Amino acid sequence: MMRKIKGCGNELCEAHKKKLTFKESETFCSKCGKTLVGVCKDCYTQLSADADKLCVRCHAKHEDRKDKAMKFAAGFGTGALAFGGVLLKYGSKTFAVVKKIKF
Ligand SMILES: [Zn+2]
Ligand SMILES: [Zn+2]
Repeated sequence: MMRKIKGCGNELCEAHKKKLTFKESETFCSKCGKTLVGVCKDCYTQLSADADKLCVRCHAKHEDRKDKAMKFAAGFGTGALAFGGVLLKYGSKTFAVVKKIKF
C-alpha cells in the first residue's frame, strides 16, 4: 500500500521551508496549525488528493531509472559475452596495460 507523505502547504511556515513531513494520520501542521497537504516524497511539491506519494515529475524520474536498470540487466548477458571476447582477443595486452597503471 502506498503511504502518503504529508507536508505543510503554507509557504511562510517553518515546516514548509524545512520541508518537514508529517505522518498520514496527522491533519494539521504542528508549526502553523494549517491543514496538511499531500506532498511529493522527493521534492515537496504539493500533490492533488488522488495522487500517490510522488509528483508527476519525480514519478517519471523513478520510472526512468527503473527502465534503465531493466535495460541494463537485459543487455548485460550479451554485453558480458562481448567483453569476454575482447578480453580473450586482447587479453595479454589488456593485462599489461592494467599492470602499468597499477604499479
Ligand atoms: Zn505549517
Ligand atoms: Zn516531486
